[in-house]
Amino acid sequence: MNIQEILDIDHQHIWHPYTSASRPTDNLVVKSAEGVFLELEDGTKLIDGMSSWWSTIHGYNVPELNEAIQNQLENMSHVMFGGITHRPAAELTKALLEVLPEGLEHVFYSDSGSVAVEVALKMALQYWYSKNKGHKNRFITVRNGYHGDTWHDMSVCDPVTGMHRIFNNRLSQQIFLPAPQAKFHGEFITGEIEEIEKVLAAQHNEIAAFILEPIVQGAGGMRFYHPQYLKEVKALCDKYEILLIADEIATGFGRTGKLFACEFAEITPDIMCVGKALTGGYLSFAATFCTAEVAQTISEGSPGVFMHGPTFMGNPMACAVALANLRLLLSKNWQNDIQRIENHFKQTLPQLEELDSVEEVRVLGAIGVVEMKDPVDMVKIQKEFTDRGIWLRPFGKLVYTMPPFIISDEELTQLTTSMTESIHQYSKELAI
Ligand SMILES: *Cc1c(COP(=O)(O)O)cnc(C)c1O
Repeated sequence: MNIQEILDIDHQHIWHPYTSASRPTDNLVVKSAEGVFLELEDGTKLIDGMSSWWSTIHGYNVPELNEAIQNQLENMSHVMFGGITHRPAAELTKALLEVLPEGLEHVFYSDSGSVAVEVALKMALQYWYSKNKGHKNRFITVRNGYHGDTWHDMSVCDPVTGMHRIFNNRLSQQIFLPAPQAKFHGEFITGEIEEIEKVLAAQHNEIAAFILEPIVQGAGGMRFYHPQYLKEVKALCDKYEILLIADEIATGFGRTGKLFACEFAEITPDIMCVGKALTGGYLSFAATFCTAEVAQTISEGSPGVFMHGPTFMGNPMACAVALANLRLLLSKNWQNDIQRIENHFKQTLPQLEELDSVEEVRVLGAIGVVEMKDPVDMVKIQKEFTDRGIWLRPFGKLVYTMPPFIISDEELTQLTTSMTESIHQYSKELAI
């Protein structure tokens, strides 16, 4: 197929994330990827400022990860997990247990972040069912959250900016608190916690779990909130017998400067989900962890087994590459890389606040966010980015970047210079 034939098939037949089939956009045709670069079919090279949605933390075509997949492929690419186990799953689990927040002892492997959240929600419901407290069957969460696209996940996503409007009558009705207001670098606000306590005191009898993204609210708004907020929420959950589910799918594996964002608050959630960077972006894979208390309660209650079991559970190739990814991360001074990227973003991006079109610039770890005053015209702004050699995918008012940790200083400069120039040019054209 030539490039045009690829695009024709793509336009006519292939859905992309959140797209229209009748008004398809011109997708870039990527041929290969290496380091921080995506190479298009026409030879153009773009710096990937998105890490393919938080996942490719070591960049593309990583020798250690390629080797892990190739070696595993020689043994077996897949085998069912019912009644069977294998070395890659055991070795990965051992390595994860050494770095997870203390007290998380059981793992359920699945195929994607959304499924890992479904599993977490089911674990929480089955936990209370096993304790003969089946009336504790709702979830509480905060506004601006994002937890995935599958059915029960949608019910805990932001009810206004998420997909509730369309599916409202069919989704379970959950309890929504305001989004955390105390900013990561700002003052902690005691009043916020008092408001949460009122809700929990009144409704804890119907609440199974509190689900939230620790510290960084990702796709629901790219907001960074105060670690003390998370610490207090954990304490309230303990006080009112509510499980805490931490969705670390975006934050896990170093992105924020901590290996897991829960570490900022020094808490261990009852249940925790990881995905995205788990395999360094090589394969779709995710995990849901829980404490011994949660696992034992489910296992000793009725029906005595946890009711979930995907066909591709614990896929050996995914386990092998996840293990290589974790070992590679831990073998490096990754904290240094995050600090280096954070410093660079802090030195360069805040200048954009001078523009009338920009609301706020926020930086935490290797995440840089430029919040515009109005939703951006994606096609127009993306053209500015690609013309200047970078790949970014804004949504709504948010233009943001979270590059691979291995990005060099020179590439970082190109990324932020191009980002800044593009936003200037875009804003200038807006003003006309
Ligand atoms: C991406 C994401 C998910 C969903 O993961 P998928 O792999 O896209 O299904 C869930 N929660 C958070 C916080 C995420 O960032």
